Amino acid sequence: MQPAERDLSSLLRSEELAQRIAKLVHRLASELAQRGRKTVKLMNFCGTHEWTTVHYGIRSLMPPTVELVAGPGCPVCITPSYCVENAIELALDGVTVYTFGDAYKLPAVRRVRGARSLAEAKAQGGNVKVVYSFLDAVKHARASGRESVFLAIGFETTAPSYALSLSRGDVPSNLKLLTALRLTPPAARHAILATIERGLEPVSGIIAPGHVSTIVGAEPWDRLAKELKLPAVVSGFEPVDLLVSISILLEMILGGVSGARIEYTRLVTWNGNALAKKLIGEVFETVDSHWRGLGLIAASGLELGGPYKAYDAYDAYGLKKVEEREDSLSGCKCPEVIMGLAKPIECPLFMKVCTPSKPYGPCMVSSEGTCAIWARFGGGGLADKVAATLELGG
Ligand code: SF4
Repeated sequence: MQPAERDLSSLLRSEELAQRIAKLVHRLASELAQRGRKTVKLMNFCGTHEWTTVHYGIRSLMPPTVELVAGPGCPVCITPSYCVENAIELALDGVTVYTFGDAYKLPAVRRVRGARSLAEAKAQGGNVKVVYSFLDAVKHARASGRESVFLAIGFETTAPSYALSLSRGDVPSNLKLLTALRLTPPAARHAILATIERGLEPVSGIIAPGHVSTIVGAEPWDRLAKELKLPAVVSGFEPVDLLVSISILLEMILGGVSGARIEYTRLVTWNGNALAKKLIGEVFETVDSHWRGLGLIAASGLELGGPYKAYDAYDAYGLKKVEEREDSLSGCKCPEVIMGLAKPIECPLFMKVCTPSKPYGPCMVSSEGTCAIWARFGGGGLADKVAATLELGG
């Protein structure tokens, strides 16, 4: 890290600055309350925002009228069960299945020949390899020459790396992609509308994901926010970033402003990364896609298109990608957790049957999963310390 970056990083974690902005948040919330706005619900759509919220105790700094909830922001958590089941089947049939570590223990709803995850498939002799990058899988598959599949899970942030390798012709023909690539704005819309449809406290503002927005820009959030008549702020990931974003959202609510603002100006622009978006458009097609826990969402996924369909594992192996049954594990509240309708601690299995070392549901697997974050950092510890230090009553 360069000295300037180090200075910025420590500034964005400064307790004094956090204290000042937290006081501003309290003042704005009190103005809203005086105008009759009793509750404000702000939803994030990125596992890293939830991590910052929990790790730094941001919830403990909020006035009682401001609620921070986590929406669908973890790509592993929403990967359909059929995707995992197909990967297990292929691995047990001897095809080399490459995966990132965070999907290795991702549980399927249905056991496949006794295995519920790729970890269990490997324990049974299945051919599973954990890799750190798609390029590692490309190199390994080329060297081995064996039939291989890469479990390509992710949001808009991940898609450009696949698109770049494919468009350059770097991917050997023996390596196929089992894709579960998803687009976040349609899922955010789905989750926000779900709270209204269920007659619950509606979402008042969007904390838009910083990483995804480095690719897509703030413009899709602006469109969504204007459609739903809400404010949205594309936020960075340090605690001060998040507090500033919350204060901007409250100011926008006070002013009756809808549309998007960018807090994360050091990396996000209005129109995003033109080259990455062009590559995605060349290699993938936008399709209606299934999200585990959320169901089918229109125009919310990416599938290989045109000449790149030759790399589609679903086509190459005749795999099914339609979710035809209930996609939730018995007793697991992940569908509600993913939609921001329940907290992990409201799941009776949380930290009893389901723990980070032995996850039962998908939200406990990845470091971006809400249950995994709450299990590792929720309550006590740093959260209480930060709240005590800030002495918000002053
Ligand atoms: S604690 Fe486990 S079982 Fe409960 S909702 Fe979270 S992931 Fe699912």
